[in-house]
Amino acid sequence: MSIQETLENIRRKLPEHVRLVVVSKTQAAEDIRAAYDYGQRLFGENKAQELIGKQPFLPEDIQWHFIGHLQTNKVKFIAPFVSLIESADSMKLLGEMNRQAQKYNRVIDCLLQFHIAREETKFGLSFQEATEILRSAEYIACKNISIIGVMGMASFTKDKSNVRQEFRDLKQIYTDLKEAYFTRNEFFREISMGMSGDYEIAIEEGSTIVRIGTAIFGERRKSMINDQ
Ligand SMILES: *Cc1c(COP(=O)(O)O)cnc(C)c1O
Repeated sequence: MSIQETLENIRRKLPEHVRLVVVSKTQAAEDIRAAYDYGQRLFGENKAQELIGKQPFLPEDIQWHFIGHLQTNKVKFIAPFVSLIESADSMKLLGEMNRQAQKYNRVIDCLLQFHIAREETKFGLSFQEATEILRSAEYIACKNISIIGVMGMASFTKDKSNVRQEFRDLKQIYTDLKEAYFTRNEFFREISMGMSGDYEIAIEEGSTIVRIGTAIFGERRKSMINDQ
């Protein structure tokens, strides 16, 4: 199947309120172009180095979501153009995002990434850690970042009920944070969850953003860039 066909198949399954981030990490510029030419404007990358390497060579109206673990010293490279940082997972990172956003006279939208998987390896905050951040004077003073929701990755497992429970947990985290800290904030409304293998479950559990790579492009090539 062509990229257009796989993209079309996925789009057809998405309800109107769910946005598709096409995850283009490790993909060649011509394949990204193919998706772009088919109307796709929202793309996701998980490595700063790779993103800044390809961004200048691709159309300017692409909205880039950063979806991987972000080191504070890399924020400055993506701050001028990134559309949404989905993987904010510490006050240190939020503080640096705020500083860089200020420098470029803009507000950077971000999601708080939560650790919802039962696996050890995934990055992300606990509810307690997020609460500490949201109550801190340091966060409250940040005027150039806007937290517009939450993000999480489920366990990599065939156990669908486990995956579903993890998505449910993220939805609950979203609801609790909304009530406690964002009641009057209309922007706080995104729940980014669901990838190639589990996006249908994620949508059933309330996802508003799905991040899909291999189901569109096929298996990824091994990344040539290692900046983490
Ligand atoms: C790679 C990646 C995806 C997409 O994964 P696929 O299984 O290829 O759809 C989604 N989210 C994050 C954070 C990723 O790193």
